[in-house]
Amino acid sequence: MKYDVIVVGAGPGGIFAAYELIKQNADLKIGVFEAGHALDKRKCPIDGEKVKTCIKCKSCSIMSGFGGAGAFSDGKYNITNDFGGTLYEYIGKKKALELMNYVDDINMAYGGEGTKMYSTAGSKFDKICMQNKLKLLNASVRHLGTDINYVVLENIYNELKEKVDFYFDCAVDHVVKTENGYTIDAQGNKYDCEQCVISVGRIGSKWMEKICHEMDIPTKSNRVDLGVRVELPAVIFSHLTDELYESKIVYRTEKFEDNVRTFCMNPHGAVVNENTNGIVTVNGHSYEDPSKHTDNTNFALLVAKHFSEPFKDSNGYGESIARLSNMLGGGVIVQRFGDLVRGRRSTVNRIEEGLVRPTLAATPGDLSLVLPKRILDGIIEMIYALDKIAPGTANDDTLLYGVEVKFYNMEVEVDENLECKHKGLYIIGDGSGVTHSLSHASASGVHVARQIVENR
Ligand SMILES: Cc1cc2nc3c(=O)[nH]c(=O)nc-3n(C[C@H](O)[C@H](O)[C@H](O)COP(=O)(O)OP(=O)(O)OC[C@H]3O[C@@H](n4cnc5c(N)ncnc54)[C@H](O)[C@@H]3O)c2cc1C
Repeated sequence: MKYDVIVVGAGPGGIFAAYELIKQNADLKIGVFEAGHALDKRKCPIDGEKVKTCIKCKSCSIMSGFGGAGAFSDGKYNITNDFGGTLYEYIGKKKALELMNYVDDINMAYGGEGTKMYSTAGSKFDKICMQNKLKLLNASVRHLGTDINYVVLENIYNELKEKVDFYFDCAVDHVVKTENGYTIDAQGNKYDCEQCVISVGRIGSKWMEKICHEMDIPTKSNRVDLGVRVELPAVIFSHLTDELYESKIVYRTEKFEDNVRTFCMNPHGAVVNENTNGIVTVNGHSYEDPSKHTDNTNFALLVAKHFSEPFKDSNGYGESIARLSNMLGGGVIVQRFGDLVRGRRSTVNRIEEGLVRPTLAATPGDLSLVLPKRILDGIIEMIYALDKIAPGTANDDTLLYGVEVKFYNMEVEVDENLECKHKGLYIIGDGSGVTHSLSHASASGVHVARQIVENR
């Protein structure tokens, strides 16, 4: 089978690459290979009753399949260069924002219309944060919610499936450079293409490392973000979330001068497990539909850990800490803030007596046995800092789930076209290390599609 372009991975990066390729040139023959299931076959078995925690499925429906890690995400498209990736370093800030806005237009055209766009522009919280040694980052946020996000993906898939060959449950094993392009090896079959776009996301990080090694593509890696997911009554943050939906707030700790930041805020949302390469960590999402709202808001507090020479395996470090929590708790650990600061573990009774009802069944335990002191101290300082702008954050019953880890794919060396040293091989999305979000990953897909069509 011969294609003009093969796309590896059907997350937002791969989907938007395929979408834009077809839009720019409907005659292109395109194959999309996805290790996970088709959208309608994706189902996480956790139902809160029979299956309460992650059972480590062979293909994790939260992370893999059409829609990628984004399919059951909260669908928060942050339109900003302040966070979510460094796409702007490759293509410029103006172009990056233009592409993110273009992605938003497409999302609106495919079922997202009517959803709300929030913005920090002119917000009074900018000043309030500053007065309390906190910094509010700038962004416009389109919140699709898990439900509308799914509808948008479904609509895009229904249109694309007529024009693109999709291969689901079909992991690509190897990519080999040939005289006229590339041959990919998937489940024992070979497919040729002139150009290849790789967009394998976080779940494909190990595979990406292997491919870079096999094809001698330079990489660098030195960061991992570690922390906890905070869950508290939605009213405590409602003045912020009603106006901004998500507030990305940074605090510089007094003790170590580390930056701690809020991440992925989900008003009235639920805390969920995330399985990356067999390691269970925590994440969160929420629905647009008010009937699916919970009484809680959750968000992550993360500390970025950058390593210097000679240590290179930042993800390995994050994995070891996550493994420790899995070892102690059999999965994710939950602890009341009051128990953490008193130096004692949480128990089932203490959690049950508390005022915050957990939305994830996690094992009550002691996060101080898992997280390094420096990181834990930073998180505790940040909780007290947030308590000044959202009183109640530092209440004893606030729940902390651990660990939350943001694994950063190693950064693959690519040029301004997101093309690696091999002509016609593009590496995009979270798998490239350039992006860490829905909007940046999607925008990177649009960008390479336009480069490919222009240069053919
Ligand atoms: C629960 C959750 C909530 C989130 N909420 C948000 C949010 O609200 N806002 C936000 O900006 N970001 C959010 N994120 C992050 C966001 O989903 C990712 O940044 C985004 O999906 C990255 O897109 P991508 O296309 O680069 O990779 P992915 O979405 O990870 O897609 C990569 C795809 O490639 C496939 N793949 C991997 N290896 C292979 C292979 N060898 N062969 C074939 N296919 C392969 C995978 O199965 C996967 O489907 C969330 C993530 C999770 C897990």
